[in-house]
Amino acid sequence: SLQCGIVGLPNVGKSTLFNAISTGVAEAANYPFCTIEPNVGVVTVPDERLDVLTGLVKPQKVIPTIMEFVDIAGLVKGASQGAGLGNKFLANIREVDAIVHVVRCFQDENVVHVEGRVDPVFDKEIIDAELQLKDLESVEKKIQKLEKAARTGDAKAKVELDVLKQYKGVLESGQNARSLAIDPELKEAAIGDIQLLTAKPVLYVANVDETAMLTGNEYSEKLREAVKHEGAEVIVLCAAIESQIAEIEDEEEHEMFLSEYGLKESGLSKLIRASYALLNLITYFTAGVKEVRAWTIEKGWKAPKSAGVIHTDFEKGFIRAEVIKIADFEKYKSEAAVKEAGKMSVEGKEYVVEDGDIMHFRFNV
Ligand code: GDP
Repeated sequence: SLQCGIVGLPNVGKSTLFNAISTGVAEAANYPFCTIEPNVGVVTVPDERLDVLTGLVKPQKVIPTIMEFVDIAGLVKGASQGAGLGNKFLANIREVDAIVHVVRCFQDENVVHVEGRVDPVFDKEIIDAELQLKDLESVEKKIQKLEKAARTGDAKAKVELDVLKQYKGVLESGQNARSLAIDPELKEAAIGDIQLLTAKPVLYVANVDETAMLTGNEYSEKLREAVKHEGAEVIVLCAAIESQIAEIEDEEEHEMFLSEYGLKESGLSKLIRASYALLNLITYFTAGVKEVRAWTIEKGWKAPKSAGVIHTDFEKGFIRAEVIKIADFEKYKSEAAVKEAGKMSVEGKEYVVEDGDIMHFRFNV
């Protein structure tokens, strides 16, 4: 499944945040594949629509969907030259599908800052520079290869070479690869195989003091300003408080704690939902009296492929899908009433599943 990697300089609060994430694993304990590496955390994806469905269907079991975070510790200045096991960590980043970049926006004299002062924009640039240097290596390697092919008159190689040179320019000017506006097909052809680190989708976590959880602070504002041109989201939270919130198992107590801090939801919930969207993931539901369940697919998947996440047989033997929009289910309150109102559609192989669809697959075995 798709994963988000958590990166950032040392002492910015990555482990604290990751621990908060991993505490949520308890909730997902009934997932059979929970024996994963210590640096991978599994969380359930918060979704109010599941509560709505549960209220209406009253199933025996409710199963939320999950996603994974990878803790990528140990990035320091010089990582691209191998400092602090840098190459190993950079290789870890290459394997993830999106990046959660944690930046320190809290003051605390007791917590040493590796660079001696709190400056989120500068911190972000240190990490970016390491990733950019690594990307530059990959781009230059590919340019060398393509230049040979281009010299023999390979037209396709020439086009790709031109794109790669644009990437080279962007990286050399201290920008991330993702900031190059380019046709998606050209992009895929030129860099699809080299997995540039700074081309991966990113969101930033501004780790602020408890007092700035709701409002943000001057540091988080500076960060927001600095990443605006990347179109990246900034989530403001206090990792220290999040790890406390995550410890509370009792739901009522959990709510109380949140409201004491004036929070509608935990920062972690916000982060999980934002990361899910960053990975281009959406959710469909199956709703029966035995089980109401959320399933994860990628945006744009057609019905058979979407059915395949339940079981490969569903994809292979796909006949059709009965689809109810969740708003209609809420309005008419039962599947029978939805059908009667003519609001259930029957869809074939070409149907692109939408976020919030309630699916019933018909298939041959
Ligand atoms: P990492 O090196 O990025 O994984 O950072 P850690 O999560 O280990 O945090 C480094 C130190 O900062 C620890 O002493 C944490 O308790 C502290 N810390 C983490 N988050 C916060 C926060 O939101 N506020 C404050 N004041 N301290 C924090």
